[in-house]
Amino acid sequence: MSGHVFGPVPSRRLGRSLGVDLVPFKTCTYDCIYCQLGPTTCRTLQRKEWVPLELVLQELEEKLDTRPDYITLSGSGEPTLFTPLDKLIEGIRKVTDIPIAVLTNGSLLGSWDVQWDLSVADLVIPSLDAGNDVTFRLVNRPHAGISFERMLAGLAAFRRRFRKQYWLEVFLLGGYTTFERELADLRRCVELIQPDRVQLNTVTRPPAEDYAIAVSHAQLEEIAAMFSPPAEVIAEFHSVQALEVGEASREEILQLLRRRPCSIDDIADGLGMHRNEVLKSVEHLNTEGLVEGTQVGGKYYYKAVQQSSR
Ligand code: SF4
Repeated sequence: MSGHVFGPVPSRRLGRSLGVDLVPFKTCTYDCIYCQLGPTTCRTLQRKEWVPLELVLQELEEKLDTRPDYITLSGSGEPTLFTPLDKLIEGIRKVTDIPIAVLTNGSLLGSWDVQWDLSVADLVIPSLDAGNDVTFRLVNRPHAGISFERMLAGLAAFRRRFRKQYWLEVFLLGGYTTFERELADLRRCVELIQPDRVQLNTVTRPPAEDYAIAVSHAQLEEIAAMFSPPAEVIAEFHSVQALEVGEASREEILQLLRRRPCSIDDIADGLGMHRNEVLKSVEHLNTEGLVEGTQVGGKYYYKAVQQSSR
């Protein structure tokens, strides 16, 4: 199995982010209704070396010449399920000083081992999508071994320990978390956690379930103002910088679309390619049945058709 490093991906917060995928496709502690990767195929709490550490480090070193703004541990599942995460981060540090970010759903932050592993990262971005147990179960559909109270306590405990940047992403859904009572619960949780920033997000790419509905930009702005200090609405990505040499193989496009649905512009921005070059490659991949397109909010996104094994 190879292809654990993908992109750089155009990230709304991190510029050009080189993604590192540490678990097999959709191996996660949650099965969120809004997940852009589709339903979770392996819902687990098991932490192990899901992919070979040495191979990941080798692939990463080969891609450092793409000059990303961040190396981001994220990918197609929950990265804190991977061990030894601290060794991986130390290994990355030995070959580059590019900052390391971790995007996590936060469900395992109550574990002392996970806290220890993440304490060597530069930026940790956990999620919190609900302020109470009922909505948590409806939206995140967690593994049976995860309780809302323990998850929340973990988010707050890691904040007390982690003195670097800690940004909380709140993914809002129409009809679930836009009611005042739900928002009040979320605000109480944010007060308890004390992150450096709160960032509001919503559905902008094809979700796992059709009933995961987006919140309008205007409503997100209104909700952001209710947080103290105000939350940020994560704006759509705008091109950060183009690579001098705009070369990426069709396999790189495919690797990117396996981890994240992207528009043609997303791919061009992330991989430093000309838009027309991307269009041509995606058209070919589409004809071969390797990628498929879906329209969301008036924008067209492509994602890889998942094969039975990868
Ligand atoms: S959105 Fe993230 S946390 Fe939720 S199921 Fe998908 S990968 Fe897991």
